[in-house]
Amino acid sequence: MPADPAHPDRVASPRTTRLAPSPTGDLHLGNVRSLLLAWAIGRNAGWNVILRHEDLDAARTSIEACDAIEESLHWLGLDWDGAPTRQSDDLEPYFEAMRRLESRRLVFSSDLSRRELREAAAAPHGGELRFPPELRPSDEDAWRFHEGATNFRSKTRPGPEIVRDRLLGTHRFDPAAEVGDQIVWTKAGRPAYQLSVVVDDDRQGVTDVIRGADLLSSAARQQRLRQDLGIDGDLTWWHLPIVHDDDGRRLAKRDGDTGVEALRRAGVPADRIIGLVAWWCGLIEKPAPVAAAKIPELLDHDHLRSMVTRETSQPLRFTNEDRRWLLQS
Ligand code: GLU
Repeated sequence: MPADPAHPDRVASPRTTRLAPSPTGDLHLGNVRSLLLAWAIGRNAGWNVILRHEDLDAARTSIEACDAIEESLHWLGLDWDGAPTRQSDDLEPYFEAMRRLESRRLVFSSDLSRRELREAAAAPHGGELRFPPELRPSDEDAWRFHEGATNFRSKTRPGPEIVRDRLLGTHRFDPAAEVGDQIVWTKAGRPAYQLSVVVDDDRQGVTDVIRGADLLSSAARQQRLRQDLGIDGDLTWWHLPIVHDDDGRRLAKRDGDTGVEALRRAGVPADRIIGLVAWWCGLIEKPAPVAAAKIPELLDHDHLRSMVTRETSQPLRFTNEDRRWLLQS
């Protein structure tokens, strides 16, 4: 196998995972947990690890934010193979995917408002707004893809979609009943999340997706889109438990004080942040400073699985005690 030019000592691996942050602000500790484990699992197994900035939301992302994330990741001790990519750099692969879906008569434009959709949805699924097949347009022109200020949705076939997850086991979804025809292209003239991720995971040779469990149902939708685009084979999924704060809410970027840069400015060293996250993941017995470089060798799958089992009864929590431990450095 050819060597990787960025790391001549490393043999290019046929497997690839990705760090895929959205550069919308400071990384919070839940993001750090997902990125650290994706990186460590990849490094432990000798896979390629790539960095992809998911920056298609022009209103909320910027080049500066991408740079800041790279800086934070380096400071934490994470690295990646090859040059990082930014989704906004080249939209052509997404256009190409839309043309492919169009040629299969799988996408249509629709400008129904959320209110109109809500009124039409007989059985909303878990608070999610579903686009039912009855609302597909009959006008042939609506099934042509064009660049205009309109959303495009892809037709979702009914029936179960099985997601086999390395950590969470087998899950059965029914995307047509849950989300219906999902948005794949937005009226801002850019691909929506589901389409961009599927296109990139395919063209970047990603084989293993390691990310938060909030995206488990998206795995089913992404499998469907892969099939619609004629992409062979499934990805290997590794979904990790979500991290909550002390009030039981998911950590979010708006809670600025759990951000890596905020903690760094407060004088918290990187190895404390890594050590806290490693303890959450069951890799060490109690919180203690650890360098990121040590994490790949600490990983073992029983630990990862026990972390997931714990999650089913008790979510991972960033507690006030954890916060005090971080700041006492
Ligand atoms: N960019 C997404 C995030 O930061 C992750 C998407 C994915 O892993 O598929 O939450």
